[in-house]
Amino acid sequence: MLQIDKEKLLEELRKLNPKKVGLQFPEGLKSKAIEIADMLDYEVFIYGGNTYGACDVADEELSFCDCLIHFGHAEIPLKFKIPVIFMEVFDDIDLVPSLKKNLDHLEKKGKNIGLATTVQHIPQLKNAESFLKSSGFNVYIGKGTERIKYDGQVLGCNFSVCTNIEDKVDYFLYIGTGYFHPLGITLNTGKEVFLIDPYTKKIENLEHEKTKLLKKRYAVIEKAKDAEKFGLIVSTRKGQYRMKEALYIKKELKNLGKKAYIFLTREISPEELRGFNMDAYVICACPRIAIDDQSRYEKPILTVSEVSLISQTKEYEFDVIGGI
Ligand code: SF4
Repeated sequence: MLQIDKEKLLEELRKLNPKKVGLQFPEGLKSKAIEIADMLDYEVFIYGGNTYGACDVADEELSFCDCLIHFGHAEIPLKFKIPVIFMEVFDDIDLVPSLKKNLDHLEKKGKNIGLATTVQHIPQLKNAESFLKSSGFNVYIGKGTERIKYDGQVLGCNFSVCTNIEDKVDYFLYIGTGYFHPLGITLNTGKEVFLIDPYTKKIENLEHEKTKLLKKRYAVIEKAKDAEKFGLIVSTRKGQYRMKEALYIKKELKNLGKKAYIFLTREISPEELRGFNMDAYVICACPRIAIDDQSRYEKPILTVSEVSLISQTKEYEFDVIGGI
């Protein structure tokens, strides 16, 4: 179950002594907004827009508040207009039973395991590590770049906790749900990745999903080769703002005889882009948008790292945001 540490929240607010408090929730926590608002003895303003990650803090929109509480994500150390309190929301599910159930499988694959997860399982990762060590494995949990707060924590745009230890491990074990993060690990490291879902306790090898994803992405890249006009979409969300990459890509595409235009927007959606009538788009923002949402768009949408595959034959690189 997801846990919000209300005592910690009140303590942090007491330190700041604000009058007006902004609240921001990702989609999965919006149902908690009213409960939190009701318990606070301050004038509260709730941000109603979409929130995708710690890259996406509504400090500009709520700059009239004395502080902003951003729920559900670990801090990315960006510069904000007002003080921002990051209230991580942890899941208290014990990871050990799902490891216990799959021990035989892991033993067959090798003794050196790289362990990774998303922020909600971070407090449970130590127990998982101890259990695996006591079962005879060598366990490695990597440190990330400055974008990453916790050892072993992956973001959909940053897998540095894995790339930093890939030489030491036989394979990676990602504990969590969904394919995006473990796919990012396998495409960033070239290592085999196993996904263990702590709720169902099922284990899955990501190789099949990796092949499926690469097939889809190469088909999109192939289509983009015929495009004449490219829209380079730069996000105004602080932690996804990739203007440097957009300017570089613009030059590269011009060298290939293509036209390229830079668009800035906060919300990236098919509806926003349709009127511009480009032949293809490059998402200079969150890497997940092109990968997860391609089916919603009529035109090919590429990640930053896929652009070079229009003109070169080289290994596929998963798009990442290295810095903050
Ligand atoms: S850029 Fe995308 S993957 Fe990275 S933190 Fe933001 S929402 Fe998550």
